Amino acid sequence: MQEFTGSCHCGAIRFTFRAAAIDKGLRCNCSICRRKGALMSAFTVAAEDLAIDAANDALATYHFGTGKAHHHFCKHCGIYPFHQTMRKPGHYRINLGCVEGVDSCALPFEVYDGASL
Ligand SMILES: [Zn+2]
Repeated sequence: MQEFTGSCHCGAIRFTFRAAAIDKGLRCNCSICRRKGALMSAFTVAAEDLAIDAANDALATYHFGTGKAHHHFCKHCGIYPFHQTMRKPGHYRINLGCVEGVDSCALPFEVYDGASL
C-alpha cells in the first residue's frame, strides 16, 4: 500500500488515501459519469483509509436516482474529487485526475456498464 495525496482544482478540498499502485482506471457510462468524463479509480477506498480536509464547507454532495451514491464536489471550483459508490456503500472511488503524481490520461481503463443498472 502507498499513500497518495490529491485535491480539487482550487485546493479547498485536499485528501490522502492508501492504495496499491495505480496502474489503471475505470470509466462508467451511467448518466452522471458520462457527463463528468472523469477517470475514476478501479479500486474502492474504505472510509477509514481516506482522510478528507475540506475548508469552509467546500464539500458539497449531489444525489439522484436511488440516492445511494454520494457524488461529492467542490462548491468553489466545481471539481469532483471522489464519490461514494452505489455498488459498495461507504466506500469511495477517487477521481484519478485529482491525484498528485498520477497521469490520468496515460492510464488504461475498463468501462463499467452503469447505464444498464
Ligand atoms: Zn475546489
